[in-house]
Order: sequence, then structure tokens, then C-alpha cells
Amino acid sequence: MIGSMMNYQLTLTSIMQHGKQINPNKEVVSITSDHDHHRCTLSDIFERSAQVANLLKSHNIEKGDRIATLAWNDFRHMELYYGISCSGAVCHTINPRLHPDQVNFIINDASDKIVFLDVMFIDLVKAVEAELTSVKRFIVLTSDVSVVEHLGEKWSTYEDDISIYSKEHDWPELNENDPCQLCYTSGTTGNPKGVQYSHRSLVLHTMAAIAPDAFSIGKNDCILPVVPMFHVNAWGIPYMAAMAGCKLVLAGSKVADPTVLSRLIQNEGVTLAAGVPTVWNLLAQHLQENDISLTGLKKLVVGGTAMPPHLYRYFQNDQNMAIIHAWGMTEMSPLGTINHIQADEMQAWDDEVLFEQKLKQGMPVYGIELKLVNDDGQEVPWDGKESGNLLVRGPWVVDKYFNRPDVENKNGWFDTGDVSVIDQYGYMKITDRSKDVIKSGGEWISSVDIENAMMSHPDVSLAAVIGIEHHKWDERPLLIIENHRGEALSHEDIVTFLTGKIAKWWMPDAIEYVEHIPMTATGKMHKLKLREKFEQYSF
Ligand code: ADP
Repeated sequence: MIGSMMNYQLTLTSIMQHGKQINPNKEVVSITSDHDHHRCTLSDIFERSAQVANLLKSHNIEKGDRIATLAWNDFRHMELYYGISCSGAVCHTINPRLHPDQVNFIINDASDKIVFLDVMFIDLVKAVEAELTSVKRFIVLTSDVSVVEHLGEKWSTYEDDISIYSKEHDWPELNENDPCQLCYTSGTTGNPKGVQYSHRSLVLHTMAAIAPDAFSIGKNDCILPVVPMFHVNAWGIPYMAAMAGCKLVLAGSKVADPTVLSRLIQNEGVTLAAGVPTVWNLLAQHLQENDISLTGLKKLVVGGTAMPPHLYRYFQNDQNMAIIHAWGMTEMSPLGTINHIQADEMQAWDDEVLFEQKLKQGMPVYGIELKLVNDDGQEVPWDGKESGNLLVRGPWVVDKYFNRPDVENKNGWFDTGDVSVIDQYGYMKITDRSKDVIKSGGEWISSVDIENAMMSHPDVSLAAVIGIEHHKWDERPLLIIENHRGEALSHEDIVTFLTGKIAKWWMPDAIEYVEHIPMTATGKMHKLKLREKFEQYSF
């Protein structure tokens, strides 16, 4: 016997229908290459998604076919999200910051049939076009037909192409386990791997993410996703907007331009913005230099890497915002844990202790289970002290990578590659990534803790710590600092600054200054490149 409730399929189409019926007039503001400030409503977007679906049909796109996008955050990209997925095909978002060889690899690996791209990525695609065996058509996201002149027969423009189709589409009944979106990890080691989300996984993820103790999103919110729509579906925000019914502000290619972001936040009434710390760092500098207070922006969602303490303090104390620090991965759609302080237990804590708690990656949302294990696979207690490899499972965690039967989860758990501790309250704190761990004299040194401590210095904008081979201790930490803004810090200054903030034996053996710390395509410090650069280093 089974329960007596309806077998209702959890699909993105249901989110679209809800948005269309219940939240049709919610505004979507976008910056694109051909519009300074484009304004439309959710209802307009869904009508044009129907035109996209009709266009795909005319190209004989079938259920499960992959359709690629190389695009920034704007209304057209959102139309593609819904138009492609709800017609039964898979919307494959590609990160244009990847190396062209990786873009080439990814498109062929996914066998994409059509590529939709922004004007500024024409050269990138042209450079690899001859090697893209599966692609039948390249459609440039613009109303300017002149951009495709001389590009070849396979090239056309979006507005021209969709204009001839009806704004109605007979949306198919999909199974909730059908695939709908595909996103490749950034591939800091080896080739990128594809994570193919199902309708069900994204619907459940959206429901979990809008909840009060997650992103806390409701009808009166206005969201600015600074996280790009090519990175884990902009953390799911385009779905949250239609489900919760809020206004969206999409900054196009200006997602890392603090002047534009600050103006959009003020002029459009943004209440919640979401992105990685690198962008918030740029914004903080801009706000400080121009003495701007963003009074309407109440919630700042931060993830992707740990929030540096000085930035946390600035936005919390000087800008009066609630910082929603989240941890997740492409493989987790991405939401895993969120840090919200619990008033009953923690509000009475000493300020510094409470602040340390806030800096942690937080508690799992319902739907995500965490497990910590040591290298022998034995469970590690949640005591806030002993660290272990972090495993996760849940309905929006990857089971298998796309096209990669050789990579498998073990015993139903996904190994995140993160090393962490979990305290007795259930708050998880990342102490390292397994491949970044430094082992000194048989003990682990947390590069993340040293980096965070160093980045709380006002003259340090970015700090990375890597392990260097050592004749006596196997490995010792090397501290690499970018762009010291004030006086050059001496080794002695740094030792004084770090003393008391990290264990004595973690003190870096040497410090190197670089002009730029290399970053990955998703805005994380590229430790692999740093290790290559300092391969021959000796103390
Ligand atoms: P990639 O780095 O391949 O682009 P993701 O964007 O999925 O992959 O990044 C996932 C990783 O980013 C996590 O495993 C973790 O190491 C790191 N990460 C994500 N959020 C946080 C956070 N809030 N604090 C610290 N590290 C984080």
C-alpha cells in the first residue's frame, strides 16, 4: 500500500506555471549588450520562453538534448533557462571564463546541439567552432542582426529567430526525474565534470533555499544575483524569483563592477544580493571611498569561499546588513549549509566567540545530511575539534557525473573534498580542501585558518597558504600575499599579527608577495597554479 496523496511531478514547469499565474507582474530589470536598463515582467519572460521552446521544436530538438548557453545574467538567459528545460531539453550553462580548450571539451562532451551566446563571446566560440562536432546552430543573444554577418550559415540572432514563433507552447508533461540543467565543475584538477540536475532536485532545492533560515526570500524582496547564471544556476535564484514572487535585478556583464552594482542596489530597491567575497570586497572598497550607505540592502548572501572577517564586520557593522554565509558545491545544486545564529542559545555569548561562530559555514538545511569521517572511513565526533573528510547526501546532491561512469559515490555518500569540523550545535567549519591540506610532522595545518587570519589585516587584500616540502617536517606553510595596500609588511609584522590568532607551530616559515594571486574560473584562489609557481621553492 502507498500513501493516498497525488503523484504530482516536481518540475520546473510547475515553477513557471506558478510564476505565470501568481506572480506575473513581478519585474525583471537587466543590463545587456543592447539595453542599458531593460525592464520586463515574469509574464513577459515566460511568454518568450514559449517562443524559445517553439524555436527548439523547429530545430527538431528532442527530449534530453543538450542546449548550451554562454551568457551573462539577463532576461534572455532566464528565458532560455525555462524555455529549454520546460520543453524537455537540458539547458547547459557554460562558464565563459574557462580556457577555450575547456569550453571546446565541455561542448563536445555534452554533445550540445545549439549554442546560445552573448555578443562578447563570439570570438571565443569562433576560435573553437571547427572542432565542435555536435553543434548545428549558433544563436547570438541580441537584436542586432549585423553581428552575425559573415559568420557563416550556422549563425543567427535570437530576437530575429524567436520573433516568428507563438507566445504559447504546449508544454510537455515531464517526469520529475528528467534532466533539466547541466553545469560543469571548474576543473581545478583534470577535465571539468558535468553535473546534470533533475527537475525534482531543483524544485526541492528552490523550496529549501527560500525558507526563513536559508536565504529567507519572500514576495517583498528584490534580488540581485551577482553570482553568474553560468555558475550553478546562479545558486538557483531564477527559480526562487518565480516560486517566491520577487523582483529580480540582473547586472549582465557588469556583475563585478562595483559602481554599477551600487547604483542598481540603490535605484532598484535591492533587498538581497548574492555572490562570492571577491565581489563584496570590490563593493566594500567602492562604498568606503564614496561614503555610500546601502540602507535598503538588508541581506547579503555570501558563498563560494569563506567570508574574510574584515569584510564580514564591514557589511554587518558599517552597512547594517545580515550576512547569510552559505556553503555548497556545483555537485549540491549548490546549497549545503547556512549560518544563522540561534538567538536562544548564542546571543548571550561573548562578542568574539559569537563572531567566530558566525564565520563558520553553518548548519545543514533540511534535505542535506552531513557526515565526517577520518581517512579510514571511521566517523569523527561532532565536537568542534576533530576534523575529518566531509561527506554529504540528499535529494539535490549528485549521484553520478555526466558521461563519467568511472567516478562513483561510495556507500551512498558524496565526498566533498572538503576537510572540516562540526561543533556540538551542528555548525560546520571548513578547515581545508583535502588536496590543499598541509601535513607537518604528521599533523594537519589548516591553510584556510591562516588565510582568514591574515586577511583580517587591513593592508592585505588576498592571502594564500600552500605547503612546501620540508626536509624535517615533510611540509611547512608558505604564505603568499597579494596587493598589500599600505606599507609593505615585514616578516616580523606578520608574525606579530598572526601570533595568538593561529597555533604557534602553524606560523608560516616564509612570506612571498605577488602582484596577483591566480583565481579559478569561479573566483576561488587557484592553489594548483600557486603550487606550480612555487614548485622549486625551498626555505
Ligand atoms: P569549483 O571550485 O569546482 O567551481 P564549486 O564552485 O562547486 O566548485 O565550489 C565548491 C567548493 O567551494 C567547496 O567544496 C568548498 O571548498 C568551497 N566553498 C564553497 N562555499 C564555501 C564557503 N562558504 N566557505 C569556504 N569554502 C567554500
